[in-house]
Amino acid sequence: MATELLRVGVIGTGNIGADHVDRVAHQISGARVTALFDVATDRAKELADQIGAVAMSTASNVINSADVDAIIIASPGEYHAPLTLECISAGKPVLCEKPLAPTVEECDAVIAAEQASGRRLVQVGFMRRNDAGYRHMKDNLASGAIGEPLILHCEHRNPDVPDSFTSEMSMTDSVIHEIDTARWLLSEEIVRVRVIAGKQTPNAASHLNDPQLVIMESQSGVIVSVEVFVNARYGYDVRCEIVGSNGFTSLGVQDLGQYVSDTRRTAVMPANWRIRFGDAYRAEIQDWVNGITMGQPRGANSFDGLCATHVAQAAVRAVKSGATVEIPVLEQPDFYR
Ligand code: NAP
Repeated sequence: MATELLRVGVIGTGNIGADHVDRVAHQISGARVTALFDVATDRAKELADQIGAVAMSTASNVINSADVDAIIIASPGEYHAPLTLECISAGKPVLCEKPLAPTVEECDAVIAAEQASGRRLVQVGFMRRNDAGYRHMKDNLASGAIGEPLILHCEHRNPDVPDSFTSEMSMTDSVIHEIDTARWLLSEEIVRVRVIAGKQTPNAASHLNDPQLVIMESQSGVIVSVEVFVNARYGYDVRCEIVGSNGFTSLGVQDLGQYVSDTRRTAVMPANWRIRFGDAYRAEIQDWVNGITMGQPRGANSFDGLCATHVAQAAVRAVKSGATVEIPVLEQPDFYR
């Protein structure tokens, strides 16, 4: 690469887009932000002014700018596939926030275009792969210390969601992280899913099933249970445990330390996903930059993005039908091995 620092363009400067801009600008090495676009032009301009970048008038201008080497897409999910396809056409690496696309057909189009380009250009924002706790669990499993994995338990609790949030979005926005985590931890595919909604919290909108229990099964028969509870109120709480034939490895409530006041000792936990996964996002972006600098991105790829959407869509069908949905295993192209 001709320039010393990787020049990054960011499309979508809302919650996570603005965080990624800050990470590239201030928290990681080897890159700088040169261009931004958001349909909320004032938001992009204000952010661009703070870091000495340029707010551009279209997403295409960012992607095709001579001052941009690589792109982060953090717009709403429906725009992910068209923008990713544009990045591939421009021959530029792209970190696309999850989901790669809301439909399997759009993911397939990205995979076809990327293979036709002959280069791995796409990374999908499944940042739990960069979380120290999850990596520790994967290492413990790989070491053989806990034996054969038998059951994977996941808990995904969010303090609250807007009223527009639906039972299906619990699968496509929240559980999609557990789907990728399960595939990555177990190194195998999910083949079956069922979703159960039992007693409901009084704190959710009447149209929303909350909590829901998602029960999946992997190719070798590992049961993957996911409790997704998006109005848990008390904090942001993501936990995980692999039960093996000889032991278990787990990731419990994140401990942010404690304070003592008025004769009480209080343990502090994360209030939201930003705090819980801040280090993982930082590691993800640093690894993305390092990967590009060394030749190609090396995080979750387009095929991982496709598989996650494929399973999440099956979970949506399971929410609607109440039945167990079988999930055909997709063939992994050699390009992604
Ligand atoms: P957000 O706060 O709504 O931000 C999205 C931004 O994109 C908004 O500023 C929105 O403007 C703008 N936008 C809308 N249409 C656009 C377009 N066509 N081109 C460019 N920008 C456009 O949403 P968010 O929470 O940041 O989520 C963004 C994406 O990141 C979603 O796909 C979400 O699933 C993903 N995400 C991932 C994680 C993770 O853990 N990996 C966490 C959070 C979010 P308006 O507000 O004016 O519409």
